[in-house]
Amino acid sequence: MLGKIWCYLWASPTTLFGLLAGVLTVATGGRGRRHGPVVELWGGFSTWLLSSWAFRAEAITLGHVILGRTGSALDRYRTHELEHVRQAEQWGLLFLPAYAIASLWAHLSGRHYYRDNWFEIDANHRDRARKTRTRRTLSN
Ligand SMILES: [Zn+2]
Repeated sequence: MLGKIWCYLWASPTTLFGLLAGVLTVATGGRGRRHGPVVELWGGFSTWLLSSWAFRAEAITLGHVILGRTGSALDRYRTHELEHVRQAEQWGLLFLPAYAIASLWAHLSGRHYYRDNWFEIDANHRDRARKTRTRRTLSN
């Protein structure tokens, strides 16, 4: 219990950005829901933000807040985004700067700033491994 509280506190600087985007999302006609350990928001500001040239993403995680273009995008990318929640719990207030540095590092190394970002590679790897374990469990 104390560990979980610490995770929320440690990730809270990043979560604050997510909550700010969440307030803007709800104020502009978007919707929100709680899903397990996170709050998910979509529509309104979130759709505008994720459709903008700066992001061009279906979903983004900011601490314990996941923003999606649509509710179905959140369903589709939830397991990947929950890996970013885990990362935010591990890295805490260092998460956003570390993510930015990982993007810069990838770019300066001649790789893609998003696809080759260490945090994305880690999230994809863990998401795939978890899905493989789930399939094996279901087929046994
Ligand atoms: Zn990702």
